[in-house]
Amino acid sequence: MRVVLLGPPGSGKGTVGERLERATGFPRISTGDLLRKAVREGTPLGRLAEGVMQAGGLVSDDIVTGIVRERIAEADCRPGYILDGYPRTAAQAEALRRIDGGRPEIAVELDVAEETIVSRLSARRVCPSCQAVYNLRSRPPVRAGACDACGAALVQRPDDRPEAVRERLRVYRDRTAPLREAFRARGVYRAVGGEGEFEAVAAGVLAAVAAARSAGGEKGRP
Ligand code: AMP
Repeated sequence: MRVVLLGPPGSGKGTVGERLERATGFPRISTGDLLRKAVREGTPLGRLAEGVMQAGGLVSDDIVTGIVRERIAEADCRPGYILDGYPRTAAQAEALRRIDGGRPEIAVELDVAEETIVSRLSARRVCPSCQAVYNLRSRPPVRAGACDACGAALVQRPDDRPEAVRERLRVYRDRTAPLREAFRARGVYRAVGGEGEFEAVAAGVLAAVAAARSAGGEKGRP
């Protein structure tokens, strides 16, 4: 089955997506993670994407769609996959329909208020070495400023700075939130409250995915 995770930046798509990946065995495909890897490795794609990402804008539809098309063609995606951060525009949603025959079977949006997002993202820190993610308030590292897993000094993502966060929220409102209607019209849209305790939020998403699966969401699986 094919799952799309929708939700503004900082809504918890990444952590919920990881949980969903473990629970279902379907690989999680995060376009943000793939782009950040390209930036770290200094590939031509990374050099193209870096400035746009730091400013909180969107990388071009063609580039991101190309990345997703290649990734979902891999064998481990055949039984299903979880898209985290794609599609983000109407053009990407249309491209996904073309690439993968009208899927997904479910699009779950994590519903989180903007004030919560601004507060969460200002406290987010990441490990530049192993990419572990922390939150200074809700998920702090054991030793202040250092990664629990590898000891590297934690940093703030450039796009978690306040000006970039404002831009990312604006982009979400203007470009991504309208996709709700298209998914609703296809009968695959579900909203899950994303403000509570992580375990409760994850349970809500898992339940929505399980319900879609048992309602015949796996019809047409290869
Ligand atoms: P994320 O980690 O999902 O918040 O993504 C970080 C950044 O990567 C975004 O702010 C965009 O600049 C870029 N990005 C990720 N996914 C997409 C996408 N589907 N379309 C365009 N840009 C994207």
